[in-house]
Amino acid sequence: MRSRRPGRAFVLSSPSGGGKTTVVQRLRRALPTLARSVSVTTRAPRPGERRGREYRFVSPAAFHRLRRAGALLEQARVHDAWYGTPRRPLLQALARGRDAVLSIDVQGARQVRRALGTRAVLIFLVPPSMASLRQRLVRRRTDSPAAIRRRLAQARRELACAAWYDYRVVNDRLARAVRDVAAIIQRKG
Ligand code: 5GP
Repeated sequence: MRSRRPGRAFVLSSPSGGGKTTVVQRLRRALPTLARSVSVTTRAPRPGERRGREYRFVSPAAFHRLRRAGALLEQARVHDAWYGTPRRPLLQALARGRDAVLSIDVQGARQVRRALGTRAVLIFLVPPSMASLRQRLVRRRTDSPAAIRRRLAQARRELACAAWYDYRVVNDRLARAVRDVAAIIQRKG
């Protein structure tokens, strides 16, 4: 028999460089029925990113039109760009009983909690240390030294928010972090 329980929205946050993208990729391989919310953003695509896959890349004007039309479940300004979660695809997936993963920042997490209540499960991916975070941002080679400094300052502020998440998972070993997050998702809601 098919379960009628509505799906849950698993919100995954971590400071940038915290390894969230890789964890989400592996997670979806481990749990193929998990839907991924594709955000809209005003930031420019990075090398290797494809339109509609990592993000829907839009102009600031288009972003604010979506926002005014109520098409975004949450939105936030992060590192000089706007990001938002399209409301309809997520709510449709949940109504069909599918669980979804949202890779969004702490401001967005608060708004999703407010909008979805206990159907939202908040998971904070904690980097093992600030030094490892810096190392990952440097290795990624997508940010200037000034941008890295800004992201690290932001990371310190975000880490303080881990306290009000439902779960904290330390991302020191990738395979273990993926297993821990998958176990949280597979727990009965
Ligand atoms: P990046 O530009 O490195 O892909 O993402 C920067 C930050 O924006 C990350 O913390 C990421 O989780 C967050 N982010 C991505 N999409 C969304 C979204 O739709 N809403 C919110 N609030 N944050 C997002």
